[in-house]
Amino acid sequence: MAEAGTIGINPIKANPIKVEATEVRAIEVKTIAVIGAGTMGRGIAHAAALGGYRTILEDLLPGALRKAESEIRANLDKAVELGKVTASDADSAFGRLEYAASVEEAAREADLVIEAVPEEMESKIEIFTLLDKICRPTTMLASNTSSLSVTEIASVTYRARKCVGMHFFNPVHKMKLLEVVRALETDDDTLATAVEVGKRMRKEVVVIKESPGFITSRINAMIGNEAFYILQEGIASAADIDKALKLGLNHPMGPFELVDLVGLDTRLSILEYLHKSLGEKYRPAPLLVQYVRAGRLGRKSGRGVYEYPETVSAAKRNLSS
Ligand code: NAD
Repeated sequence: MAEAGTIGINPIKANPIKVEATEVRAIEVKTIAVIGAGTMGRGIAHAAALGGYRTILEDLLPGALRKAESEIRANLDKAVELGKVTASDADSAFGRLEYAASVEEAAREADLVIEAVPEEMESKIEIFTLLDKICRPTTMLASNTSSLSVTEIASVTYRARKCVGMHFFNPVHKMKLLEVVRALETDDDTLATAVEVGKRMRKEVVVIKESPGFITSRINAMIGNEAFYILQEGIASAADIDKALKLGLNHPMGPFELVDLVGLDTRLSILEYLHKSLGEKYRPAPLLVQYVRAGRLGRKSGRGVYEYPETVSAAKRNLSS
């Protein structure tokens, strides 16, 4: 029995759940493959392993897998320290993680594959085309895209009804929300399974119909873009814009603190897509475009709207070791 306030691991069962008033059955998922071990893939793997799933993580870059392994260990240790997870649950979760050298190796035995490669339609289509060829016919394919059309991604497969959006939030091991996105062809069982998996990963789930940017990315991109316009118009400093939204509007982070965490390149890709699909009001602020051109991508590059000297020195240390 799990202690109060901790995350207990129960045997995985397929539970009937209601989606749009129709009783449908979630499909049993035991093994989850996560493709892309960057900011999001690592966190998704952490939450999946803690949810009791055998979890196989894969990335093009072997360095990304090593980094993922040490970061997941550190985050699990921190959760134990904070009393959110028992030491034995953390160790069991860590033991459920595997690392694969290719997409084929990762996805071969998976019941569900969650793709978390960069936010470019070509990359998503390449991965889904490959997954459709190598996965069992029953395997479900999910994308963690923050804005792209899951219908378009799914259209390159012969299993569009088994494709769904699972939009997690950064950092995944801390953020409570999961947006489950129903694409045009997604069937009820697939949707129900995505909801069930999200709940086992200890997420609060909202189910939405596909639309560019879903709920969160659409609103967040708009706020973040407006903040860049205010900055470029010289109305206030970045620190004061962040302060105003935190103290005046009760946002937990300022828009620039958040975009530095998300990545300015990721935010720009989202805005470009929203601009193309929803119109003029989403045109990316020229200052954001300029920062991305300058390589100011946020925390991950050591400099975004703010500077992160510790990231730069860590990268230099890695290069010289
Ligand atoms: P990231 O750049 O941190 O990580 C992407 C990883 O994918 C990298 O490690 C890269 O090596 C790997 N990769 C690239 N091509 C690959 C391939 N063909 N096969 C296997 N691995 C490959 O990006 P991220 O921030 O983790 O974003 C991933 C996805 O999650 C994007 O669709 C993004 O929009 C979405 N997302 C991001 C956030 C965020 O805050 N960063 C939040 C929600 C959703």
